[in-house]
Amino acid sequence: MDIISHTLTGIAVGTVCATISNGSWKRKSLIILVGGLGGALPDFDAISLWSKFDTTIGAFLGLEHTGKEIYFGKFWYSHHAALHSIFAPILLMLIAILMHGIKKKSFNRDKVLGFVKSKKFSFLAFFFGFLCHLLEDMPTPASVWGGVNLFYPSSTYIGGFGNIWWWNNYDLVLIIFSVIVLNLLINGIPKQYYHLKMKTSIGIFLIGLSLFLYQVNTRPIDFAYTGHTVDYDKLEEQSKQLQKEILGPQLFNVMTAIDNKIPLNF
Ligand SMILES: [Zn+2]
Repeated sequence: MDIISHTLTGIAVGTVCATISNGSWKRKSLIILVGGLGGALPDFDAISLWSKFDTTIGAFLGLEHTGKEIYFGKFWYSHHAALHSIFAPILLMLIAILMHGIKKKSFNRDKVLGFVKSKKFSFLAFFFGFLCHLLEDMPTPASVWGGVNLFYPSSTYIGGFGNIWWWNNYDLVLIIFSVIVLNLLINGIPKQYYHLKMKTSIGIFLIGLSLFLYQVNTRPIDFAYTGHTVDYDKLEEQSKQLQKEILGPQLFNVMTAIDNKIPLNF
């Protein structure tokens, strides 16, 4: 899936955590931002596809493979590898705790636990935002990876089902976006309605998730392929035509216009 959908999913997770936190808007904004970061971060492993990778990072690290070989490879730093595993967010959260300890010059058990407790909703948003990205990549085609390396250091890749195309899943983006908007509105309701707000927020997320799963599992086209395919352009066109049927020509044109303005695959 594309980085914009992933980031929006992380933000959606963040809005639920923000509602549950019942904190100030400043704290909620941080939780939502961290959720978005968790949603975006796994695709940092696509940096090897950057046009200047070989002459900069590759040369600096003395890598014997080109960025393209790394991206489509099965190294731990390839796309869909270690950074697309549950191990990655756990390690990153431990690094955040370590950095906090270094900054405070203290690793006192109570102080470390106090820090984790005070930031628990940010940690939750980050972890679940990250996890959602990994799950969202599973219904895309297997290509050269065969899914994501969910339980790295295990060498098993999970997913690659080909239910959906890599990007232009506008219907899914609209579902995610609706969850964000509704949950932000709920966060504007006074704090005294906390329990109602929390239940509604979780409910909206679960309805969004159900709609998302329904759309993913009812695509009439099989996008599955392994390795590289000569039908790539044909499948992408079929995916777009399908979106036109799902959304209707007007909404499809709006989404296409937004897509064309964004210099990223979406
Ligand atoms: Zn990804």
